[in-house]
Amino acid sequence: MKVIILCAGYATRMYPLTLVKSKNLLQIEGIPMIDHIIEKLKKLPNIDKIFVITNNKFFDDFQIWGKDKDKIVILNDGSNSDKERLGAIGDIKFVIERTEDDEFLIIAGDNLFEFDLNDFINYGRKKGITIGVKRVEDINLIRKYSQVILDQKGKIIYFEEKPENPKSKDAAICVYYFPKGVLKKYLEEYLNQGKNPDMAGLFIQYLHKIVDVYGFVFQDKWFDIGDINQFHNANFYLLNKKLEEKFGKGENPYFFIAPGRVNIIGEHTDYNGGFVMPFAIDLYIYLAVRKNNKNVANFMSLQFKDNIISVELKDIKKTNTWADYPLGVLSVLKEMGYDFGGADFLFESNIPIGGGLSSSGAIEVITLTSLNDIFNLNIEKEKIPFLCQKAENQFVGARCGIMDQFIITMAKKENAILLNCSNNEFNYIPINLGDYYFLISSTNVSHSIASGEYNKRRAECEHGLKILKNFLNIKTLSDLTIEQFEKYKDKLPELIRKRVLHVINENQRTKMASECLIKGDIEELGKLLNESHISLRDLYEVSCKEVEIMREETLKIKGVLGTRITGGGFGGCLITLINKDSIEKFIKQVGKNYKEKTGITPGFHICQAVDGCLSFSNLQ
Ligand code: ADP
Ligand code: MG
Repeated sequence: MKVIILCAGYATRMYPLTLVKSKNLLQIEGIPMIDHIIEKLKKLPNIDKIFVITNNKFFDDFQIWGKDKDKIVILNDGSNSDKERLGAIGDIKFVIERTEDDEFLIIAGDNLFEFDLNDFINYGRKKGITIGVKRVEDINLIRKYSQVILDQKGKIIYFEEKPENPKSKDAAICVYYFPKGVLKKYLEEYLNQGKNPDMAGLFIQYLHKIVDVYGFVFQDKWFDIGDINQFHNANFYLLNKKLEEKFGKGENPYFFIAPGRVNIIGEHTDYNGGFVMPFAIDLYIYLAVRKNNKNVANFMSLQFKDNIISVELKDIKKTNTWADYPLGVLSVLKEMGYDFGGADFLFESNIPIGGGLSSSGAIEVITLTSLNDIFNLNIEKEKIPFLCQKAENQFVGARCGIMDQFIITMAKKENAILLNCSNNEFNYIPINLGDYYFLISSTNVSHSIASGEYNKRRAECEHGLKILKNFLNIKTLSDLTIEQFEKYKDKLPELIRKRVLHVINENQRTKMASECLIKGDIEELGKLLNESHISLRDLYEVSCKEVEIMREETLKIKGVLGTRITGGGFGGCLITLINKDSIEKFIKQVGKNYKEKTGITPGFHICQAVDGCLSFSNLQ
């Protein structure tokens, strides 16, 4: 038997997330979506080949994914955009023209399911052409799928793709079995009549009228991942299952989601009482958590494999593991007298860890938000960031500012926040970029000197402030005007002078950048990003070789209005303001040249500004 997994779509409903990443390679429960299908296929005997049909745009990514994988043949259908797509039927034809005839199992690459395919195949072998059928509780969903009506023998007597007025709750799903000798014949007949090659369901709608087609009703869970909510739902569903598998049966779990963040501008200003302007991005940490009625907190993360870390609540101590981040939150809450019981925590995340997008802030905020909700601690939302920051400062021992935890808690969809770190007043600033996007390029280097150098910069700023306070009535470096700086700069050692000048200018730039966003002056915003980078490189000295290579390559691309290092420095990410039409070229060219020059594969993400940490009660 041969298997065809359809992965050549462009997932336009999930743009911009899927503009640069194939939907089928997005991570669910710690592995690419398609691997969940591969796992199911491993249980089938007699599979000869698994054809994964993709497009030219994501072909390289699939080749990397499929390297060294058994039986997998990756085919490129040659299309480069949604407009050029061959369509699901066109893609099936593309595959069968390139292989000898056989039985075929066809699966859409964005279907996630629990059922055993053996039962399905056995049914098909007895009956003939067979498709999967699933009862859907919400009739509105049927309108998005295709609906079928089966007779008593399981034969399809009615089929309608995307019905306006569904007649039943049975949906056809894109899992098809074709016995040997039939697929090519019917497919050619269908396509030769000039019929729509796009939706697989339309072929079945045609086919059942000329030949017997059967429906096999699956009982187990099934997800068709068409949009971001279904993607979240699938993640939570599997996380919930894992929670039971790892911790045993227990109370009902609760689900939470928290984003990563990127800072548009305002770097190294937060701990100097200045402005920052971050937004929350569509990379997330997911949490399934439940009370365990013991005085123990158990932590597990799919990013740190199967290791459960258990801590007695009455004796919270550092573990020197990743769990110190959530544990720090528990410790701070205990110290402040909040009363809560034991809980089992299971985390899963697609925020790169240690990549400068604040996976640390996200895990802290999600932990605190969940405890607040499930134990009714009544902590006001505005206080959450400060408690989390305290956890990171005191318990973990990293001297981070307030920005990360603040944005991850308070973020609002389609908005950045302009935060004044001297008094924590903030405004939402709508992000309207027209034809432009913020794109994050990850250098995938995180220099070991980073935290030491970060603390050194803080100390240098404190030193500068102390000297200037002898002459001026200022509380933070951000109170300093450029005129005052000019007057007293000779009092500062040269190195400190550079650091202070960065802080003053960066603060100004951040306020100007917020006005640019409000006015929609994207070009000016780009210039400010560039100026910020030059200042961080030359005055604050927090860039590094890889960042400079990435930046140099970035600036070669037409359509880039500005780019700068974002985050603490010495590696991590750059944020780039780029025209949407230049993105594909950017990823190809910058990706290739950066790899050639550094030997490191970079990562790219096109950002959407999303809401802050939420409880996710939407689980179906
Ligand atoms: P970042 O730039 O991502 O915030 P940090 O070094 O500040 O990098 O924080 C990374 C740390 O946060 C990890 O070493 C780990 O301890 C914790 N962490 C973040 N995300 C996860 C996760 N999904 N699972 C477990 N620990 C995590
Ligand atoms: Mg961090």
